[in-house]
Amino acid sequence: MVIGSDMLMLIVIALGLIAIAAIGKVIAARRETRSAARLARKRARSMAELLRMVRMAETIAGIGIWQFDPKTGTQLWSDGLKRLFGIEEGEDFVEGDAETLLFANDIDLIGKVNEHTDEVEPYTLQFDVSNFDGGRLSISVQACNLMGGDGLVHRVVAVIRDNTDQVQRERELATKHAEAINEARQARELAETDPLTGLANRRRVMRELDRIVMNARVTQMPLVLVMFDIDHFKRVNDLHGHPSGDKVLRRVARLADGQSRRGDLVGRVGGEEFVWIIPGASDGMARVMIERLRQIIASDSSVAPVPNVTVSLGYACIQAGDTALSLFARADGALYDAKDAGRNRVRMAA
Ligand code: GH3
Ligand code: MG
Ligand code: MG
Repeated sequence: MVIGSDMLMLIVIALGLIAIAAIGKVIAARRETRSAARLARKRARSMAELLRMVRMAETIAGIGIWQFDPKTGTQLWSDGLKRLFGIEEGEDFVEGDAETLLFANDIDLIGKVNEHTDEVEPYTLQFDVSNFDGGRLSISVQACNLMGGDGLVHRVVAVIRDNTDQVQRERELATKHAEAINEARQARELAETDPLTGLANRRRVMRELDRIVMNARVTQMPLVLVMFDIDHFKRVNDLHGHPSGDKVLRRVARLADGQSRRGDLVGRVGGEEFVWIIPGASDGMARVMIERLRQIIASDSSVAPVPNVTVSLGYACIQAGDTALSLFARADGALYDAKDAGRNRVRMAA
């Protein structure tokens, strides 16, 4: 069959159109591939940018990020976290290194997060470890459980920081605080102690008496206040000298302190005047204790190179409505009754 020239033309045109359409499709497909590649490159660039930002943020904040999959036991360590454990950027970090580093630093991180699988709120863990140089390292872990649809922990994500400096500062501060409190206590003790006898001085006696009287009023427990004074002490100084007088004061203080029970308080409230606070003692019990003290002081002290002395003692039992001052005044009155009655004796306040 002979094909006419018109027909030939039509065939050529048709073939041409088919070819153009095919080329168009190829071009369109190429364009699509190119734009998909461009998009992928763009995404990769922004991912890299994001990673760079995360790294910078980790460096600035001195933190590391840790991710843990409880199902597989897989850990993800950020560069910041590796740096915290002494791994520099670019250094090898192969499988198993994470476990080895935690084990070598005695950080049971996985054990600890496994104890917190019920936590829905972020929680904090603290690890005190020895670092490679033998120094102490404090690691804080702020962790958060990401729950799966099955209600189980799907991932644990944690921000880990080396807060050694902060912990160190806090410890130093706590030590300084404790030292300051201790110094203040020592200063107060010194300010409230009689340097000659080591007994409580008048200031402490009055403060304690206030407290003990208030307590006795609340608890309705008995309370006895004893005041005693060395008889003719001026003569001791005059006859034996002031240093011997001091020895007498120390001996009387020691003997009285020796007779006191736990919870009692013996103090020196004047030159040769002392008090003995006896909480919880009945009238009869106190009388026996006070009489024993009188006898012990009056007994011969010739074994020690200290002049013999006697003491007069007055005591008062707490009554309804008593204050420290009213109790003190009645015991003082009883002491003067004992002096008036001839010294070296015990008198009870009315
Ligand atoms: P009374 O029996 O009436 O209590 O007579 P007294 O001599 O004990 O009392 P007085 O108040 O006349 O004398 C007290 C003396 O205590 C006078 C004072 O020099 C002496 N004295 C006070 N404090 C001290 C001290 O710290 N050391 C010595 N060695 N003597 C002191
Ligand atoms: Mg005296
Ligand atoms: Mg006196």
